[in-house]
Amino acid sequence: MTTETNTYEFQAETKKLLDIVINSLYTERDVFVRELISNAADALEKMRHESITETDVFDGHLPLEISIDLDSEKKIFTITDTGIGMTRDELEHNLGTIAHSGSNTFLSDLAEAAKKDVSLIGQFGVGFYAAFMAGHTVRVQTRSWDKSEGHEWVSDGSGTFTISEMKGLRRGTKIIVELKDDASEYAEKFKVDSIIKQYSSFVSFPVKLDGEVVNTVKAIWTRNKNEITAEEYNDFYKFVGNAATDPMYQLHFSADAPLAINALLFVPTENFEVFGFGRVDPGVSLYCQRILIDQHSENILPEWLRFLKGVVDSEDLPLNISRQALQDNALVAKLRKVITKRFLKHLNEEAKNDPEKYEKFWSTFGIYLKEGVTSDYEYQKEIGKLLRFESSKSDAGKSISLADYILRMNPDQEEIYYINGPNRAAIEAGPYVEMFTKKDIEIIYTMEPIDDFVLNHLGEFEGKKLVSADRADLSIAKDDDVEKDDAGDDDTKKLADDEVTQLTEWMKKVLEKTVADVIVSKRLVDSPAVIVNPDGYMSSSMERILAANRKEKGVVDMPGMGGSKKNLEINMKNPLIVQLARLQKKDEKFATEVALQIHDNAMLQAGLLVDQLEMVERNYRILSRVVEE
Ligand code: ADP
Ligand code: MG
Repeated sequence: MTTETNTYEFQAETKKLLDIVINSLYTERDVFVRELISNAADALEKMRHESITETDVFDGHLPLEISIDLDSEKKIFTITDTGIGMTRDELEHNLGTIAHSGSNTFLSDLAEAAKKDVSLIGQFGVGFYAAFMAGHTVRVQTRSWDKSEGHEWVSDGSGTFTISEMKGLRRGTKIIVELKDDASEYAEKFKVDSIIKQYSSFVSFPVKLDGEVVNTVKAIWTRNKNEITAEEYNDFYKFVGNAATDPMYQLHFSADAPLAINALLFVPTENFEVFGFGRVDPGVSLYCQRILIDQHSENILPEWLRFLKGVVDSEDLPLNISRQALQDNALVAKLRKVITKRFLKHLNEEAKNDPEKYEKFWSTFGIYLKEGVTSDYEYQKEIGKLLRFESSKSDAGKSISLADYILRMNPDQEEIYYINGPNRAAIEAGPYVEMFTKKDIEIIYTMEPIDDFVLNHLGEFEGKKLVSADRADLSIAKDDDVEKDDAGDDDTKKLADDEVTQLTEWMKKVLEKTVADVIVSKRLVDSPAVIVNPDGYMSSSMERILAANRKEKGVVDMPGMGGSKKNLEINMKNPLIVQLARLQKKDEKFATEVALQIHDNAMLQAGLLVDQLEMVERNYRILSRVVEE
């Protein structure tokens, strides 16, 4: 029953907005459902707040909830809430003007965006007026909690609206959207159901669709940690992470200052990228007061944390922010920093509290942290603490942290050493670890192709340089290592100094195509020879990957182009080398074959490429000679 009806003009800005909404918005109409639900939730929240102190509330017995009812025949979408409602003045003001702060800049942004790309507009939250995206006529029937009479507001969005008194209304607001012909899908249950689930799953009041509650999963991230059971966390994870198992780790944290943050992050049990599904999408979504703003957000965490699932909610964020604007929003950048740091700290704590579990995490998701070190300078140091590797002092299959390494370092040791190899056995059988074993210096084993890049990018840890043990100028190999060993070792037939020089000069000539220099080794204990890198920057392992990469891209490696030339170090205590010097004088041709073979063997131990056919043929020639004798 309506009585007197008054007609009003929309404020000029509102007209502009409505004009854009009605004439330009087709693509992202779904958001009107989100906007109306969010307004209803706001009104309910205000009601809940008032009723804490006010006992004299109109219709105080009504449960706080949102109902959406669809009439697919008449093409009507209706949303009802039992919230705070609006008085006549509020109705006229709130739905006739754009009064809320920032809306004018928003409007000019919107107009700008509309000029450039119409489809962009839908990404802005347009508030209540979004109802006109789908409705040719919108009716708002509302009654305030203050017991004043109810009213109906009606508009077709074309410049004017009417307000008339309406008797018999309950507290709260009912918005009736009479749908345009081409928007009739918003009277279909499955369509509306999916929109609610996408955007409004976590609204803190029940949302009923044709009488059934749709949002059954609670936004537990806003609650106090102590009140949430493990089961609730697990169920929530399964919902947001689309997972079948419980998470490996979870982190729930809140902050009020400097930013209001509620974050609930999960580490899954599996890494889906290794199952051949390709790169996974980011798994954390961004909310503002339980309403979705950016699903699977690319902005809220760095890319290398894309394996995380969960939600970040900040009420400091404006709901009506475009996805484009999120990207360079300073607030989002701050959120990202706080959350990333907090998560890395959390991992550190987990690693301390339960190293074995962390070992499992590391083997599943370590690859992402390595990606972080090589791609994200900002968090490199923090991630450095989380890296794990096997070492000469770890048990096989167990790993240590760089911090563990530093604790065990010799007092006069300046650097952290590592060496790459395909596996533990191969590394330990190779020539690079000899000096380390002899001097009881721990050496890290890097067994993944990417590892040397990671340590190279990291550069140092707690002030100690990270050094690949195949560097030519390794500082732990000292001059007196050579002398000391020879002293008292009568069996070794030592070469005279000039013989040594002659041998190295000769070998250098023989190997001229592939090596930069042949030098007397200070580091070798048993092996006859070793390949080392005069270019301290790149380890052989890094070079191997780059070469493979070039090959994949069809670039043919020319001699000398596969990176810098290496040095060959020879061990003057090794009988083979000593005999080679003598052989060279007797039978230079055969000595040349031996020298080439020593070189190829050392290259293989370094994991570098040799001409395999040639090597095998040469090897047979050498063997034939051995059996002849
Ligand atoms: P915003 O929600 O950002 O304030 P809207 O355009 O969505 O902007 O809504 C404008 C105003 O209309 C709200 O601030 C509120 O005062 C009022 N309003 C809208 N929907 C409701 C509702 N369901 N119940 C009570 N007030 C409402
Ligand atoms: Mg709103």
